[in-house]
Amino acid sequence: MLENTGRTELSSLGEFGLIKHLTRFIEIKNESTIKGVGDDAAVIDFKNKLTVVSTDMLVEGVHFDLMYVPLKHLGYKAVTVNLSDIYAMNATPRQITVSFAVSNRFSVEAVEELYAGIITACNKYKVDLVGGDTTTSKSGLVISITAIGEAAAEDLIYRDGAKDGDLLCVTGDLGAAYIGLQLLEREKKIFLENPGVQPDLDGHDYILQRQLKPEARKDIPVLLKKLEVKPTAMIDISDGLASEILHLCTQSEVGCNLYEDKIPIDPSAYNMTREFNLDPTVCALSGGEDYELLFTIDQSDYPKVKANPDITVIGHMTHKKEGMNLITKAGTTYPLTAQGWDSLLNKIA
Ligand code: ADP
Ligand code: MG
Repeated sequence: MLENTGRTELSSLGEFGLIKHLTRFIEIKNESTIKGVGDDAAVIDFKNKLTVVSTDMLVEGVHFDLMYVPLKHLGYKAVTVNLSDIYAMNATPRQITVSFAVSNRFSVEAVEELYAGIITACNKYKVDLVGGDTTTSKSGLVISITAIGEAAAEDLIYRDGAKDGDLLCVTGDLGAAYIGLQLLEREKKIFLENPGVQPDLDGHDYILQRQLKPEARKDIPVLLKKLEVKPTAMIDISDGLASEILHLCTQSEVGCNLYEDKIPIDPSAYNMTREFNLDPTVCALSGGEDYELLFTIDQSDYPKVKANPDITVIGHMTHKKEGMNLITKAGTTYPLTAQGWDSLLNKIA
C-alpha cells in the first residue's frame, strides 16, 4: 500500500496512521530532547541555558507555488527559514515542530516528499523533529514550523543594541533568491502559454538554489565566536536588506549610512537582473529571502572581520537624527525606505 509508485490516498492511512508513517525514521540527536513525537507534548531540557523560540507559516499561493517548487525543496526551505531566525539570535536550534494542513488533492506520496525535505534539513542542521499537528485543508497547503533553540544569556544578540558609529555588516551575497524567483515566474508563464516548451533553467543553478533551497547561516555564530566578535545587534534578511536595516535602526534608535557600492551581489545574480531589466541594488534592497545575517559591530572589531570572505562591511550607524540613507555609486544620498522602490530605482538608474 505504501510503495512509492502510484498514488495512495491520505484517507487510507487516517491522521494517526499518517503521523506514524511520516515520523517513523526520526532519530533523536540532541541531549536536550527528553521526549519527542508520540506523547501529548514534547519535553525539552536546556539546563542553565535560555530557550529561544520562533515560528513561521508558509501558505500555498502566498509564499510558494507548487507549479515550480518541488515538495521536497519546500519542506527543506520551511525548516531552514525558521532556523535562520534562531541563528539571528546567535543561538543554536535544537528542536522543531511541524504543523501542516493538507487537502485530499495531495497523496501520501506527496506528503512523504515534503517530509523527506524536512528530515533532510533536520539531519543537516542536527535538529530534532519533536512534534507538530496535522489537519485538513479545504484548499491549499499550509505549513507552520516552530524552531526551538538554546543560548547562554550572554551570547544572545537582539535587534536593539546597535550604537552610533558601529559598522554595518552582512554575510554572503544579496538579491539572488529574488532574481531566482523572477526566472521561475518567467518560465512558468512561458510554460502556461506553450505547454510543450520545456523550461530553460540551465546554467542558473546558483540563483535557483538560493530561491528553492536556501541554507541558514549556521556557520556565522561559530565564526563570530572564533573571531572573538560579538555583534551589537543582529537580524536575518528575510524581507530584503532595506526592511531589515529599518528594523535595526528603529529598534536601536540610530540612523544609518548604507553604501550602494559595498552591497555584495553574486555575478550570476547581477547578470540576470540585467536580463530582466531590473536594478541589482533594488533586488538586494527589497528582494528578500536571502536568509543572510545582517549585524552591527563596534568599530574596534573591524580588523577582525575585514579580511573575512563571509562578511562584508556595507555601511555604518549614525545618530538617529541623521536618518537612514543610501549613498549611491554616484555619491548621492537618498533616504532609505522599505517601500517606494520604483522611485528609488529611477534615481539610481
Ligand atoms: P493531540 O490530539 O494531543 O494534539 P496529535 O494526534 O495531534 O495529538 O499528535 C500526536 C503526536 O504526534 C504528538 O506528539 C504530536 O506532536 C505529533 N505530531 C502530530 N502531527 C505531527 C506532524 N505533522 N509532524 C510531527 N509530529 C506530529
Ligand atoms: Mg494535535
